[in-house]
Amino acid sequence: MTLINENYLNLQGSYLFAEVARRTAAYKAAHAGQEVISLGIGDVSRPLAPAVVEALKKASQEMGRAETFRGYGPYEGYDFLRKAIAEHDYRARGVEIAEDEIFVSDGAKSDTACFQELFSQDAVVAVQDPVYPVYVDSNVMAGRSGAFSGGKFSRLVYLPCTEENHFAPVPPKEHADLVYLCSPNNPTGAAMTKEQLQAWVDWARQHEAVILYDSAYEAFIRDEKLPRSIFEIPGAKNCAVEFRSFSKTAGFTGTRCAYCVVPKELKVWDKEGKEHSLNGLWMRRQSTKFNGVSYIVQRGAEAVFSPEGQKQIREVIDGYLANAQVILRALRGAGFTVYGGENSPYVWLKTPHGMSSWDFFDLMLHKLQIVGTPGSGFGRCGEGFFRLTAFNTPQLTQQAARRIAQFTF
Ligand code: PLP
Repeated sequence: MTLINENYLNLQGSYLFAEVARRTAAYKAAHAGQEVISLGIGDVSRPLAPAVVEALKKASQEMGRAETFRGYGPYEGYDFLRKAIAEHDYRARGVEIAEDEIFVSDGAKSDTACFQELFSQDAVVAVQDPVYPVYVDSNVMAGRSGAFSGGKFSRLVYLPCTEENHFAPVPPKEHADLVYLCSPNNPTGAAMTKEQLQAWVDWARQHEAVILYDSAYEAFIRDEKLPRSIFEIPGAKNCAVEFRSFSKTAGFTGTRCAYCVVPKELKVWDKEGKEHSLNGLWMRRQSTKFNGVSYIVQRGAEAVFSPEGQKQIREVIDGYLANAQVILRALRGAGFTVYGGENSPYVWLKTPHGMSSWDFFDLMLHKLQIVGTPGSGFGRCGEGFFRLTAFNTPQLTQQAARRIAQFTF
């Protein structure tokens, strides 16, 4: 009899998107001919930038010639891409990150899900509520969550993100070893300020905790006062790991390329109190379990940093941010209380009259034929909220906005 990892039985069903799909399909089946617009998707709709496509083509041709063919690449990514990242994403913004602190990967999902492996089974984990579910589920699989009851895992520390704290979590009174922070946030769209992040860095250093900082949406930040990287905060290199992705920045959701930064200053300890480098441990983990991102894709990612690439991806993100403005204006005009959407592709609205997130989902679908994502699916503090995304085409976003403008409640 082969026994399973029973932690998997502790996972809560991936109910949210399955239920959204089920209700949407049932509605469409019963109302053939009505156009349902999805503002629920977390995937991009615009194609890759021409500069990226050219680089992908060129690299594919190199792979077809004996003189330029490449087999396995470095586990941690090619130097050309790590140099480009260090230069453009960090040095250009006054942050010094060495190339060997950068690990190229196939996605921020796998990085944020796998990084917890480096820590003790007993580590206390803190997560934002509402939260991107990957942080929670990966720790459930690892056996760190405790039992699920009353909508919560008993061993997780939940950091409520509410209207009162402007959806920016504050450091908890209790101890935690690992804290997942996501800014600009999925799902609330809130972007943390330097002062808010400084409070977290100070707290983490005091608690000898590690911050796992997911900035997959940093390219949507347009307010120059907001930090694009946690490493803009003094002291962060001693306590934080940063995860970034080309997915939303450059339309790589189907192409797959991301990276994480693990500073060499970041030390962790074993039971005997001996110091270890987290950078060294992650290198060991990657070289054991990962064989790198394809050469072709890394050349495509490098092209994102070329002058044409930068101009092209900025136009794409401008387009998504314009969609977010269209959604925000329509919602405000209809009398909704709305958050996010400014330095983020996510709009977080408060449901009217204290309606539940799922009741509001049904109302939007049946009255306006618009699909969004119920906030309660991201955690208890998401109840009474609803997420709309700016990733659809401008045409469909405007059509959805016209429908919202007619909304009366
Ligand atoms: N982190 C957050 C907060 C996300 O919302 C997503 C995708 O939706 C990811 C990470 C995954 O990114 P990737 O496509 O690089 O795996």
